[in-house]
Amino acid sequence: MGPFGHCALGLAAKPAAPRVPLAILLLSTVALDILAIAFGFAGIEKPGDAGLPWSHGLFMSVIWSVVAALLIGLIYRNFRAGLVVGLLVFSHWLLDFVSHPIPFASFSWRTWQWDYGRPLPSDLPLLFVGSPKVGLGLYNSISAVEATVLEVGMLLVGAAIYARYTLKQKRNRQRHSV
Ligand SMILES: [Zn+2]
Repeated sequence: MGPFGHCALGLAAKPAAPRVPLAILLLSTVALDILAIAFGFAGIEKPGDAGLPWSHGLFMSVIWSVVAALLIGLIYRNFRAGLVVGLLVFSHWLLDFVSHPIPFASFSWRTWQWDYGRPLPSDLPLLFVGSPKVGLGLYNSISAVEATVLEVGMLLVGAAIYARYTLKQKRNRQRHSV
């Protein structure tokens, strides 16, 4: 899934973790992609047959989620803040599991189309190199325009939840200061 769909969950999670800044919630949802870029630069993994096991493997995604949960839980001394951030990190894998494999190799930025509906190999490893790979392939059964509409829709719902929550907080604060 693209960044819009992932970030939508970060916006929607704000009411569940009021003390955690929105930037951290948003970064949590794309943490596995940030790791993929970092690991790519470090030469630890690269896109290809192995399918990014260190950043996008199910096993390592669980590990990264637990690490993020512990880190944020300790920083904010708040169990729920840690739990929410851990779940957001893991939400990336779940959304990728639904949407991958994505026919992105055939995507054209000019026409905003990709070549979907052909069998594509799954690309999310369960463990490490050589382990079985999974993915329900939603984005290989809809067009790039439909995928974009889905992601923008998710982002709008997330933004609406976030806006509703922050407006309510503002009103509460005004009421208390009167
Ligand atoms: Zn990803």
